[in-house]
Amino acid sequence: MRTPLFFAGLMTTALGALFFLLGALLPTSGGAVPFLWSVPFVAGGLLMAGIAPFLKESEGPVEAPAGFGFCAFCSSYVKLDAERCDHCGGLQPWARQKVAR
Ligand SMILES: [Zn+2]
Repeated sequence: MRTPLFFAGLMTTALGALFFLLGALLPTSGGAVPFLWSVPFVAGGLLMAGIAPFLKESEGPVEAPAGFGFCAFCSSYVKLDAERCDHCGGLQPWARQKVAR
């Protein structure tokens, strides 16, 4: 059960219902546009709430493997003894501290 997704789906469905009501109640809208806006919100919200019980709960923050950190610029794995990222070439904060000493 992925609880946040379930409640987000309920709120999205409620927003779609609000759009549906606005389409019916507002005299200037002509009805068609707000009504059509409600369809993807209701369908998507029901889908989100419908699949949430079958997904496992998320597992908290991702951690880098031992000896690696995350690149400060592109979030790729970078070895802790490397000065620059292999992916984007960014100078890492731990290397910059070495240079300053
Ligand atoms: Zn990078």
